[in-house]
Amino acid sequence: MPPNHLYVHVPFCARRCSYCDFSIAVRSRTPIDEYVTALRSELKQGSVDGATLDTVYLGGGTPSRLGGPGVAMVLAAIRDHTTISSTAEVTIEANPDDVSDIAVAQWLAAGVNRISLGAQSFDDTVLAWMHRTHDSSQIAGAVKTIRRGGIENISLDLIFALPAHLNRDWKNDVEHALALAPAHVSLYGLTVEAHTPIARWADRGAIVEGSEAQYEDEFLYANDAMSAAGFEHYEVSNFSLPGKSSRHNSAYWTGASYAGVGPSAHSFDGAARRWNVAAYAEWARRLSNSEPVLGGEEILTDENRDVEEVYLGLRTRNGLELGEAELSVAELWRSAGWAEIESRRMVLTPTGWLRLDSLAADLAARRSNRPSPALIATPSHSYI
Ligand code: SF4
Repeated sequence: MPPNHLYVHVPFCARRCSYCDFSIAVRSRTPIDEYVTALRSELKQGSVDGATLDTVYLGGGTPSRLGGPGVAMVLAAIRDHTTISSTAEVTIEANPDDVSDIAVAQWLAAGVNRISLGAQSFDDTVLAWMHRTHDSSQIAGAVKTIRRGGIENISLDLIFALPAHLNRDWKNDVEHALALAPAHVSLYGLTVEAHTPIARWADRGAIVEGSEAQYEDEFLYANDAMSAAGFEHYEVSNFSLPGKSSRHNSAYWTGASYAGVGPSAHSFDGAARRWNVAAYAEWARRLSNSEPVLGGEEILTDENRDVEEVYLGLRTRNGLELGEAELSVAELWRSAGWAEIESRRMVLTPTGWLRLDSLAADLAARRSNRPSPALIATPSHSYI
């Protein structure tokens, strides 16, 4: 069966943000025609032929750099091979400085009904440190413009746990985000990834990462503030108003099949995970020669599946069904404040989510009868 979910990677950015290690192509002028021609060639290879899509997600990179006409061209190319259902969730990631009345009108006309806006902070000093291309006033302006254009389903991305020397006021940023009345908020804890500008700054001692205590405080503060504002913390990094959770990302977390097109995009058919070559130039070159763009694949073993089921279950509010033998350890986690248990279903609390890596590793080891790693009481959070 063809998948019901399609991810499209649009790699272009005006410049690299200081923390970003994504597969991007920095371009002052976005090569829209070249990209769409390559995308059409990839779609012709047949991975989504005949699919009825329930979600389409244009991520990046910065899909909004395609402008109104470019996004319309991408969605038209997809429609040549699939049916985008009339109730589909169609999301594009946008940077505030790409949002205009004309672009929103063109995105809406092309079928976009959800915009994920890269806000990150409302502090101009912080935004400059991050190498963002917008200031805080442009975030509020973009939200107003998107709404005026008729798209209500707006998500905001925020980054927390920044180095202390920035004196970032996290509470103030959360309040600013809530004041814009988004339907959804995604939070990402800053991690220093190799080959990023901040990794170089850290190497030469110019920055010191935020402390573990700061990480916990800011994560738990966001949980409390957003819960009080009516949001459900439905996944470790994501909050939504009722009925506004990301249907596309939820498909990933429930193990559904999905297809991905564009450089570095991943696909999953229930048995294997495959990914495209990451570099834009190589992806486009192969397609211009009608060559496959597969960069690698991983066939899931039974053990892989067990581990994924545990990680995916524990990261969402849906939780995980427990076996008889797991009830005693689940009770320990419940008494530590890390989990709630309803009949046989365990759901991690926000305090538990701060320990997701170690808790999931422990439970997965028990399921596959491997020696269980000693439970780590300190937080570990590479997933947020
Ligand atoms: S806009 Fe997004 S993808 Fe592009 S460099 Fe910044 S964080 Fe990375």
